[in-house]
Amino acid sequence: MKIAVVGTGYVGLVVGACLAENGNEVVCVDKDEAKIATLEAGRMPIYEPGLEEMVRRNHAEDRLSYTTDLRGAVRAAEIVFVAVGTPTGENGSADLQHVLDVAYEIGRALTKYTVVVDKSTVPVGTARKVREAIATVAAHPFSVVSNPEFLKQGAAIEDFMKPDRVVVGTEPDDLEAARIMRELYAPFTRTGAPIMMMDTASAELSKYAANALLATRISFMNEIANVCELVGADVDEVRKAVGSDRRIGSSFLFPGVGYGGSCFPKDVKALLRSSGERGYAFQILEAVEAVNEAQKERLVCKMQGHFSDLAGRTIALWGLAFKPRTDDMRESPAITIIDRLLALGASVRAYDPEAGATARARFGDRIAVCDKSYDALANADALAIVTEWNEFREPDFKKMRQLMRSPVVFDGRNIYSPEHMRALGFTYFSIGR
Ligand code: NAD
Repeated sequence: MKIAVVGTGYVGLVVGACLAENGNEVVCVDKDEAKIATLEAGRMPIYEPGLEEMVRRNHAEDRLSYTTDLRGAVRAAEIVFVAVGTPTGENGSADLQHVLDVAYEIGRALTKYTVVVDKSTVPVGTARKVREAIATVAAHPFSVVSNPEFLKQGAAIEDFMKPDRVVVGTEPDDLEAARIMRELYAPFTRTGAPIMMMDTASAELSKYAANALLATRISFMNEIANVCELVGADVDEVRKAVGSDRRIGSSFLFPGVGYGGSCFPKDVKALLRSSGERGYAFQILEAVEAVNEAQKERLVCKMQGHFSDLAGRTIALWGLAFKPRTDDMRESPAITIIDRLLALGASVRAYDPEAGATARARFGDRIAVCDKSYDALANADALAIVTEWNEFREPDFKKMRQLMRSPVVFDGRNIYSPEHMRALGFTYFSIGR
């Protein structure tokens, strides 16, 4: 099929590359000229494991191209995906400006029947707004479909190629759009993953419900970890005992320094806001958000507890991205931790395998961003583990001790064993143990 994907970000580029991988002819559109020029030059605007190779291969085989020309791309397409950002807007609601701008432009560009698929995460009622925006200018028939994306950064290709499920929301009588979406996704659901056809409101809400539930699990486990510290329990033992209950399951039960990223914080806020607008106070989510804000401060509180005064201290940070296997620092707990440390008069030496450039752009010379993990440890009073990249799991502890001014580790991701760290001579703090 001929497809246009509008918005070539973490979602759009993955969706475009994966659809091309299955033989479709895909044009990725973005208004960011620098991003399109980067792709044209054969370079990647983002880091996502496996993406570069897939993008290169499909580009070389003429199934994947890039453009800033939305009109041309839409005219050539049978299906147009909208994968632009929906950042937090006023009062916490999702800002639909990009989505509706694109809808309007798509409407003006239509020359034949086209299926417009909303991939961005959007509140209930957006499919209707998109339909209205297109209808004000379109001279041709079209369908609007809601198809929320559930991929995880860091494993995005695997998630898109082998989804747990595909959710498609259509108008109840729009059999043609439903048929086209089933055909498009047939190669991705061959192994038995269900394609779930539903109304657009249910599809739109499904995405928020999934992210809000995952955020709730994280905040819940962070609170359990905090209680563990007070009562002398070990959250690792509690987590395993709880997770082995099949009704609960073992994933997403790891405590830490709070959730971040471009999705959970904004989607929790947007669901709170849209429920509130309909007169419903979503009390659990209010607590989930408050717990998360407090948890992001927790590591610095532990540092204050140990050092009393952080002024003049040098703190090394391993990990800046909001999770491993991405260069994305949007809403990363590392940002809160760094801001707090700087405000308390500490200096920060940080390292991340992929997010160094992002951190340099954000913090400039307010922190030292190092190219190697051990460089960050030079004369550090303490090391904070903020993102659980694999390369931090088995470091050379002897070398660490030699480089650091004092062997103190604040592990925000519980990647080391407390007994082992103590045996190695480290003063070691972690979460809930
Ligand atoms: P992103 O910021 O990485 O990418 C969005 C892209 O859209 C940018 O490149 C921007 O330049 C482009 N854009 C904005 N307005 C445009 C316009 N008028 N015309 C053309 N291009 C335009 O965002 P993302 O992380 O890919 O997220 C996109 C959407 O997908 C959001 O709604 C997000 O909530 C949702 N989502 C994200 C993830 C994730 O892991 N990042 C997962 C599932 C769903």
